[in-house]
Amino acid sequence: MTPVAIVGGGWAGLAAAVELTSHRIPVTVIEAAGQLGGRARTVEVNRYRIDNGQHLMLGAYHDMLRLMHIVGVNEEDVFERLPLELFMTGLRTAPVRISLPRQPAPLHMVSGLYRATGINFSEKMDLVRLCTSLLLRRDTTDRDTSLAQWLEQHRQPDSLRQRLWEPLCLATMNTSLDEASTRLFLRVMRDVFTRQSRDADLLLTRRDLGAVFPEPAGRYVEAHGGTIRMKHRVNALRISEHAISAVSVAHQNVWSDHVILAVPPTTCHRLLAPHPILLPLAETIGAMPEAPICTIYIQYASGTTLSRPLIGLVDTTAQWVFDRARNGQAGLMAVVISGTGNHMDADKKTLAETVIREMAMLFPHWPPPVDWHVIREKHATFVARPEVNAMRPANRTPVRGLWLAGDYTATGYPATLEGAIRSGIAAARGVMQESGAA
Ligand SMILES: Cc1cc2nc3c(=O)[nH]c(=O)nc-3n(C[C@H](O)[C@H](O)[C@H](O)COP(=O)(O)OP(=O)(O)OC[C@H]3O[C@@H](n4cnc5c(N)ncnc54)[C@H](O)[C@@H]3O)c2cc1C
Repeated sequence: MTPVAIVGGGWAGLAAAVELTSHRIPVTVIEAAGQLGGRARTVEVNRYRIDNGQHLMLGAYHDMLRLMHIVGVNEEDVFERLPLELFMTGLRTAPVRISLPRQPAPLHMVSGLYRATGINFSEKMDLVRLCTSLLLRRDTTDRDTSLAQWLEQHRQPDSLRQRLWEPLCLATMNTSLDEASTRLFLRVMRDVFTRQSRDADLLLTRRDLGAVFPEPAGRYVEAHGGTIRMKHRVNALRISEHAISAVSVAHQNVWSDHVILAVPPTTCHRLLAPHPILLPLAETIGAMPEAPICTIYIQYASGTTLSRPLIGLVDTTAQWVFDRARNGQAGLMAVVISGTGNHMDADKKTLAETVIREMAMLFPHWPPPVDWHVIREKHATFVARPEVNAMRPANRTPVRGLWLAGDYTATGYPATLEGAIRSGIAAARGVMQESGAA
């Protein structure tokens, strides 16, 4: 079998490469950038090695953990695993704290809610009612609605909406409550809360993102006979008689009967659109709206710490702040702002100054910062609206041998690392079945 050509060395492309390699199927990964990892990669800025956006993983990311194991990454070396703790605070809002004890699911949820602080008895009852319907799956409907509508149907009060649901929705789906798909949100909630209690754990990186999966995955593929071509940009697909035959890189063909296109939606649209048989698919993918995520890294003196690894912020421009001390970066805070908003129009200095001012009000004991760096990923994720979720493409395309992978494909998950990994595995299995190698 000619090596399967995998276009894109993000987490989806690498997942496909690892899955195929582990089944002794040869692969060639073709990546346009000078490093692996795509949107979840490490970047070097001045003297720092930072992630191009702060990421948080969950115990429910089973496929990610499985592939990390295959490529030889020890979970303990790259993650600190902590039972879920949500601590939300603000300038004008009393803090809310919900932490889940190490008890079997769903008991952990019940006792976590019972012991929660900052929410009154009636709000706790509202949450318990909602969690019960989550557990009993009373909410399965054919019609997907916005999460805001669903919460209203479940009589969730405004106080919880503002202090809990809106920040959680933005964090998991990068989409506001008024727009976000209930189906996608519930899928994540069920995977996280209704199986084993470890699924709700927070996996906080101890190393930069490159070391968590992309770099070991690349080494694994090469050590098992695969090829990784960096700084090679695929600019065309060769298709004849409804079957893929090659991809073109700088006018040279890389021949293969099996191609997995693991590039972001905009590139995918550009590569598919010239082929009439793929035009409807290209148009669907090209029409998927995208939303940004902004990370502001702020360096304080090395003794500056948060009281917990991450804190949610409710009435400020900043939405979450992460202490990077466990990444060996004492005093470095990563402040995350998900979704669209005025912060995307402000220049970087103005935005950094706004966030630094907010931090000074929230944490008055911190010294003034010594440095900052703003990273804005304009195309961070697709907007997880019900109608956008419904238009996500399958892995299989109308062209024989051509498969799609990526967080935007129909994984049932929002745009996440786990979704990207699952899409890569699904595309790899499609290739194996099609080629009779499964
Ligand atoms: C700032 C930010 C924060 C996030 N936070 C979280 C989080 O906390 N938790 C979570 O689970 N998820 C998070 N995500 C989402 C997660 O990073 C993405 O879902 C995931 O990285 C997408 O992987 P992918 O492989 O599908 O796509 P990509 O990462 O986009 O990979 C596509 C690859 O294709 C390459 N490529 C493009 N064009 C070509 C071409 N013509 N030829 C060859 N190669 C090409 C690109 O260089 C890239 O490497 C976050 C995303 C961002 C941006």
